Amino acid sequence: MLLVSSTSTTLSGQSQSCLCGYKTVVGMVTAMLEELNITVPVALHLDHGSYEGAKACIEAGFSSIMFDGSHYPIDENVAKTKELVATCNELGLSIEAEVGSIGGEEDGVIGAGECADPQECKMVADLGVTMLAAGIGNIHGKYPDNWAGLSFETLDAIQQLTGEMPLVLHGGTGIPADMIKKAIELGVSKINVNTECQLAFAAATRKYIEEGKDLQGKGFDPRKLLAPGAEAIKETVKEKMELFGSVGKA
Ligand SMILES: [Zn+2]
Repeated sequence: MLLVSSTSTTLSGQSQSCLCGYKTVVGMVTAMLEELNITVPVALHLDHGSYEGAKACIEAGFSSIMFDGSHYPIDENVAKTKELVATCNELGLSIEAEVGSIGGEEDGVIGAGECADPQECKMVADLGVTMLAAGIGNIHGKYPDNWAGLSFETLDAIQQLTGEMPLVLHGGTGIPADMIKKAIELGVSKINVNTECQLAFAAATRKYIEEGKDLQGKGFDPRKLLAPGAEAIKETVKEKMELFGSVGKA
């Protein structure tokens, strides 16, 4: 599953559309699947989409979207999610919804660790979403030293009410392996890991430059300079796939 962030923040602090637009991403991914003869199913998924962003991605040809209406009052979140579910069902797309904001910082928005209301989770799950993200004490970005851990009590209560609904755990970076495994046992089916990939990329790139490799021959070529970072992300993804038990399950 390829996750596309809906916004990136410019140096001036303004948000702008990702990578020169959603259609650009769809074009690149579609061509890559064909040119590289990719045989595993690939979902092109919008992460934390706004209502407008979700509609734009549906229009652009994404195969999966997340509508994050968690900052709206629950009735408005339900109404907007319901409308997008209808559109996605008609087009055969998968849709992820969110209840109770995920703590931490994502795209410039900072929130405290929060636990979703299981009843509200049921309301949104019953709309026919494909998967549901719910706050269970998880946080985007690095976890603070005094983090209380995941609330399995909340996760269990949500799972009891939503039944078979696949749950999504955001902020996968730095959650201990035993907590991850327990969360999977309690119904978590999708885990988002971003910060850990970014940290691996930065560490490998720093090492390359600190060793002076960019000064040797054509080591300054971005294809060489960025290669160790890209390899480091691949290694991290591989480790996570093994930990999550998702190898060979596409
Ligand atoms: Zn997230």
